[in-house]
Amino acid sequence: MTDDLSHILAHLGEDRERGFDAVVPPIVQSGNFTYPTVAAMRAVVQQEFDRPLYTRGFNPTVAMLREKVAALEGAEDALVFSSGSAAIAAAVIAHVKAGDHIVCVQKPYSWTKKLLAELLPRFGVEHTFVDGTDAENYRRAIKPNTTFFILESPNSLTFELQDIAAVCAIAKEHGIVTLCDNSFSSPLFQNPIALGADMVAHSATKYLNGHSDVVAGVLAGSKERMRKVMSKEFMTLGAAPSPHDAWLLMRGLRTLELRMHRSADSAEKVARFLEAHPLVKRVHWPGLPSHPQHALATKQMKRVAGLMTIELDAPDVVAVERFCDNLKRFLIAVSWGGYESLQWPVCALQGPSGYYTDLPFTMVRLYIGLEDADALIADLEQALKNI
Ligand SMILES: *Cc1c(COP(=O)(O)O)cnc(C)c1O
Repeated sequence: MTDDLSHILAHLGEDRERGFDAVVPPIVQSGNFTYPTVAAMRAVVQQEFDRPLYTRGFNPTVAMLREKVAALEGAEDALVFSSGSAAIAAAVIAHVKAGDHIVCVQKPYSWTKKLLAELLPRFGVEHTFVDGTDAENYRRAIKPNTTFFILESPNSLTFELQDIAAVCAIAKEHGIVTLCDNSFSSPLFQNPIALGADMVAHSATKYLNGHSDVVAGVLAGSKERMRKVMSKEFMTLGAAPSPHDAWLLMRGLRTLELRMHRSADSAEKVARFLEAHPLVKRVHWPGLPSHPQHALATKQMKRVAGLMTIELDAPDVVAVERFCDNLKRFLIAVSWGGYESLQWPVCALQGPSGYYTDLPFTMVRLYIGLEDADALIADLEQALKNI
């Protein structure tokens, strides 16, 4: 671990002198703050996003986390939200108005898709989904009213990458603002701002927190842009995190580097095993040399994280379900990024977010957690035997 990185993860923003010299930062679990005089309150009201007045706008524990996240993404500032979806929605809504057009990668996170396909059209904002594996598709989709590009590289079900630098360069030529969902890689393995993105969003629920016990989101970008989002969309939509969740996230960040490399190391072993297995038709994981975008992954990501989707050579949905039910080490659950390895069968996904009906029923998404990789492989092997 470089000194810079360990400093950010465990020290940056943690004012120990003001926190009773505690090694771990304090949780300031207070909704509001008090002042000795009217004049003192008046002074704070002038700076309500930088000093403690009301926890929706500023909280000392949340502020420490904001500083760490900004540093991790190489951004001037960052905001913390009560979910990743809230961070994405606020970032988009802050930058579009009625009559505008958004270009977004196809198959983004389900609720990002819903934001574009169902919520924003009610307010006169239109969109086009494009195959982002060719950056030029973003250019081809530009209309006179296009003001915003959304990237999610790779997306978290089929792992299609966008060439972030190329897409952001096209956006800059046209004065278009860019947002990249970086949840899959975490700031450790990919930094979209360094590649030209204006803003980066994360579902902090996933790797950043890393313990399956918090739902939260972050958004990073320039000071000016974050201030704009803060003073309008953040405060009016009001999806503020609890100080306790911000504290849990800082606990999670202390092991981010250890967890990311462990998950990526094991994913590599598991992916190679699965790729070689006769009953696995395809492994969607950009870390494999056989992946169609492996070269781009190597170019713009430091490493490939521990989430992948497999397509089974299964005759029917009953066989897929048998495989899934037989897995002992992979919990059947949504989400990812914690300790526990998980499985997410596409055949179980016809819920209200309802966007997965076009994917093959043979697909199962696997999250490779922090358990012993050989035990995970042995588990997959026995379940594949019984398809
Ligand atoms: C989970 C996820 C989100 C949404 O984040 P929440 O914290 O669940 O609101 C957005 N994008 C990606 C890629 C995700 O995996």
